[in-house]
Amino acid sequence: MPILLLSQRDVVRLLPMHDCIDAMAEALLAVAQGEVVQPLRQVVSLPHRRAALGTMPAFAETLKSMAVKVIAVFPGNRGTAYDSHQGVVLLFEAEHGTLRAIVDASEVTAIRTAAVSGLATRLLAPEGAGDLAILGAGVQAHTHLEAMLAVRKIRRVRVWSPNQESRDGFADHEGRRHGITVESVASVQSAVADADLICTVTSAREPILRGKWIAPGAHVNAVGACVRTQRELDTHAVRRARLFVDSREAALSEAGDILIPIAEGALDANHIVGELGDVLLKRVPAREVGGEITLFKSLGVAVEDLAAAHLVYTRAVDRGVGTWVDLGGERRDGE
Ligand code: NDP
Repeated sequence: MPILLLSQRDVVRLLPMHDCIDAMAEALLAVAQGEVVQPLRQVVSLPHRRAALGTMPAFAETLKSMAVKVIAVFPGNRGTAYDSHQGVVLLFEAEHGTLRAIVDASEVTAIRTAAVSGLATRLLAPEGAGDLAILGAGVQAHTHLEAMLAVRKIRRVRVWSPNQESRDGFADHEGRRHGITVESVASVQSAVADADLICTVTSAREPILRGKWIAPGAHVNAVGACVRTQRELDTHAVRRARLFVDSREAALSEAGDILIPIAEGALDANHIVGELGDVLLKRVPAREVGGEITLFKSLGVAVEDLAAAHLVYTRAVDRGVGTWVDLGGERRDGE
């Protein structure tokens, strides 16, 4: 069977942020409507190292497709030539189970994660929000700036990360790329002061964002810290916010930002107001009173990779992008 190989470059070309945000809305709506099967991811943590290999399978009735992302997460790659997230998404059709495509997962992860934060921001942030703080200056910081520019009229951008060279480089590069001013600031507190949009996209293991620093009415996308022992936000930040997640099941299994405050007795699982799909279906309102802080805790779920890879594959076939290879897989009775 011919299989389409789609590189990182192909994914960038075929998955513009606006379109990916819409694809993520459809995917998370399908989850809320019970049309997706996606078990929790399986993660092999490497002994004595901060590194892991994860597998994330999903089936979506709406797309008549299945996929599994195989992803190596090596946060220590920061500052080397290697992305911290590397792997592939294997895309299958769901009629005969044939493999359709092998898609680079670094770029799918970079874009689809930011697109989901873009969706969360579109659904939860005040219409006029536009003072953006980005905590982190790595891969996700770049795509998150793009996603925030796609969903809100951004008036001001501040970036903080621990390494000055890194945050200055981000400010310079992204300022030129988007034709805007990006301020590089030396502390989290000065980055978030009066900001009404905050994206936390760091590899921090301990809280970097304090609840007392967040302005009333702000919306926060909390994207780093995808394991139960790590967090980017302190307990106060989570407790004072109206909390949304991509998957309640995943949040209660993997999100240190939520599980650590629960273990402290500071909140319980009912603090999660809903999943993004619940907001899309209007089962729960985004905000109830003015001045509320909304918080989207992102973990990343397999259907996002499936939906992104499906869109990339469909476009690649239409536009003649990618490299076909034949791996076999036909039935060979009688030979
Ligand atoms: P990168 O390695 O590209 O960037 C990591 C960033 O974190 C850098 O800006 C780095 O700072 C900063 N950083 C590292 N250590 C610390 C620390 N102790 N305190 C504060 N900041 C720190 O990673 P990505 O951008 O790819 O990923 C960012 C986070 O998002 C990771 O935690 C990753 O696991 C998570 N993630 C979540 C996904 C989801 O679906 N929710 C999907 C993909 C990633 P500097 O620039 O100064 O070196």
